[in-house]
Amino acid sequence: MSSHPAPSAPTLPPDGGLVELRPGCWAWRTGFVDLTLGVIAGRDGTVVVDTGPTEAHASALADAIGAHGLGPVVAVVNTHVHWDHVLGNAVFADRWPDAALIAHEHAAAATPAHVEGFRRAAGEPGSPYADSPHLDALRSARVRPATDTLSSARVLDLGDRRVEVVHPGPAHTDGDVVVHVPDVGVVYAGDLVEQSAPPSYGEDSFPLTWHTALDLVVGMVAEDAVVVPGHGTPVDRAFVEEQRAAVGVVATTISDLAGRGVSPADALGASTWPFPVEALEHAVRRGYAHLPRGARRLPLA
Ligand SMILES: [Zn+2]
Repeated sequence: MSSHPAPSAPTLPPDGGLVELRPGCWAWRTGFVDLTLGVIAGRDGTVVVDTGPTEAHASALADAIGAHGLGPVVAVVNTHVHWDHVLGNAVFADRWPDAALIAHEHAAAATPAHVEGFRRAAGEPGSPYADSPHLDALRSARVRPATDTLSSARVLDLGDRRVEVVHPGPAHTDGDVVVHVPDVGVVYAGDLVEQSAPPSYGEDSFPLTWHTALDLVVGMVAEDAVVVPGHGTPVDRAFVEEQRAAVGVVATTISDLAGRGVSPADALGASTWPFPVEALEHAVRRGYAHLPRGARRLPLA
């Protein structure tokens, strides 16, 4: 037993290229939307975790995999449906046609409508991407949903290492998966964990159960594990435990306010919250909608 504290996770700069975090486990942090992509190398091939916010990013990652001598890619995993994690799928499918394209069954089923809706909205006035230099790339990205789906868990055998793909339950979406490399203690967590922004509670989030999904991630790894977030630089297990506590507070606060008869419209102003309230509008709306029958009182006034 070592008495040394757990090593801190290496810091990734945006647009810093492919960086090895632990033996055979790499990450690439993009500048655009600060996405963190993963690469896992084994004797019999390489696994890619998420494919980038544009096909150009995917091509750059695919080139880097070749430049580091890591190919061939035998599997690509989408951690969830959101466009910034799947828009490079077609690049990998073209370059490595035999690679399995893997996602949770809900994520795969929702990908075409999600991507097409995003492409339509990206150029509209008020879109955060209307003036982006990447707008043309966003609008022209091909839709390529995962074709190899799972409902709970899958093990990928790379010959000298095993990679676990696990659905931890509804959290950031109803089709999240985390990718665990147990021999070196690395987890690619997708948007279950965010380092460079608050957790993203979107229109398709599950605020009341997100913390139980993070319990599974925390329980999966040792104290010195490296956790790669969906956005930002890698973090340690203690960071995930803190984020778990905060998303747990969001869930219990929603339940408490609803039980006291506070309406969804008044909820954000009726309590203190662990994240900026601007980031919690969908959390409140979705959380109230997911409360069990009887957990919400009608306002008395
Ligand atoms: Zn997301």
